[in-house]
Amino acid sequence: QYNGPAPIVAVVGSGPAGFYTAQKLMRDIPGTKVDMYEQLPVPFGLVRFGVAPDHPEVKNCQDTFQEVAASPDYTFIGNVNLGHDLPLPLLAKHYDAIVFAYGASKDRRLGLEGEEKPHIYSARAFVGWYNGLPEYRDLDPDLTAGETAIVVGQGNVALDVTRTLLSKVDVLRKTDITDYALHALSGSKIKHVHVVGRRGPMQAAFTIKEVRELLQLEDVNFTPIPNELFPADLAKLPRPRRRLLELLKKGSPVKEKATKSWSLDFLLAPTFLNWSAADPDRLEGVTFSKTRLEDPSSSESPVVNTDETQVIATSILFRSIGYKAEAILGMAEIGAEFDQGKGTIRHDGLGRVVPVSQSATVGNGDGNGKVAVYCSGWVKRGPTGVIASTMTDAFQTAEAIVEDWKRAYASNSGPESLRGGWTGVQAEAQALKLPLRPLHWDKWQKIDEAEKAEGAKRGKPREKFGKVSEMLEAAGV
Ligand code: FAD
Repeated sequence: QYNGPAPIVAVVGSGPAGFYTAQKLMRDIPGTKVDMYEQLPVPFGLVRFGVAPDHPEVKNCQDTFQEVAASPDYTFIGNVNLGHDLPLPLLAKHYDAIVFAYGASKDRRLGLEGEEKPHIYSARAFVGWYNGLPEYRDLDPDLTAGETAIVVGQGNVALDVTRTLLSKVDVLRKTDITDYALHALSGSKIKHVHVVGRRGPMQAAFTIKEVRELLQLEDVNFTPIPNELFPADLAKLPRPRRRLLELLKKGSPVKEKATKSWSLDFLLAPTFLNWSAADPDRLEGVTFSKTRLEDPSSSESPVVNTDETQVIATSILFRSIGYKAEAILGMAEIGAEFDQGKGTIRHDGLGRVVPVSQSATVGNGDGNGKVAVYCSGWVKRGPTGVIASTMTDAFQTAEAIVEDWKRAYASNSGPESLRGGWTGVQAEAQALKLPLRPLHWDKWQKIDEAEKAEGAKRGKPREKFGKVSEMLEAAGV
């Protein structure tokens, strides 16, 4: 039985990692106070801005997050970008622990010349655009330049992009996809999407559910995959891979009325973007190196480029080769180190960046900026994995915090932490005249209601505000 004090914790980021860490902390040490800082006026991270609009069931985790937010020990502090609006060392003084759960806010690039030119989009930007992420409100992708699109990358995000490009607009209309995206998609001329990967079917990163959804799309055909790309004996494979390969091999029956199609193009690595001689800003195609697998039967096989090339004509390209996290300004000052190579915060494997034993002393309120630091979610283990794996990961971090805390303070029967949390931060920010415009949960609820009301008028679950100014206006902030 633990009778010591409860900590006051700042969580940076309000995606699944932030919420699941908060949930477990508050459950395991009753009385724990969690202040959750979020750069946007709205919570939920990629659940709102990543998950595809036609996957509403995936967003059910928001019910759990709402329960966490309903606790009197929880405070949502939206519209505050840590590191920019509020220096980290200032934050650190007022908490016993900080948990970095700020996800991955950049994307990996192909490294090709001309990648920044028009008609080349990152999946992160495109997905953010159709899901109402303010950063990409004005992306305005040109879907009218030609009939073929290339998506480079073969993970689930690549398939989300492909499905959105090929779905009937009337199906998407009933989802929470933004109105401006619907408008652009309804004028799209794209008829075929090549989903291109460096490796083979054995190594593909997408999962069976997403493939099945694409195969079942109305009036959309699938180009059969050449037989020689499959291992001779599927029966020997582990069940999940076997089922996926069986499905890919079977494909889908030819749909007579199909007007659109997609293909999975394996063993191709992009090496060159081909621009029109007449207009150097017009993409005409992509040159790929054909690749070779060193061990075709292994799902982990290394891949090498060969001298053979293949050109695929296209006027638009989406790169979907992964998200990337970056450091927050001022991290080093509180003892956290960002590993640029891995794109994650350095930690002990369980989420400890600077454990409590090396840092704070409960209740000292010493204001010396020492704080225990942890990380959780995509910024901890890299930008892979679904919400369920992010939950497992967040629970692991919370367990590390609880263990450190209890070990350090088990014999301390009081006083409660003297650190001021948000109240202390606010007072200091005011004294320093930092122009914060924070927004709490009740204000988010106003935004939520306004979005739902607007959605109801259009027969969809919500119409998201695409601009921060619109969100703040709806919140009355
Ligand atoms: P995030 O969800 O990215 O949350 C991080 C939060 O931190 C964001 O709200 C961000 O605004 C905030 N933040 C960033 N920087 C700062 C800062 N400086 N100050 C304050 N706040 C900050 N999983 C599924 O299970 N099913 C799916 O269908 C599915 N679809 C996906 C589709 C896409 C396109 C993507 C990219 C992912 C998808 N996932 C899906 C995976 C799932 O979204 C992730 O596993 C999960 O969101 C990671 O959680 P996180 O909290 O680490 O990061």
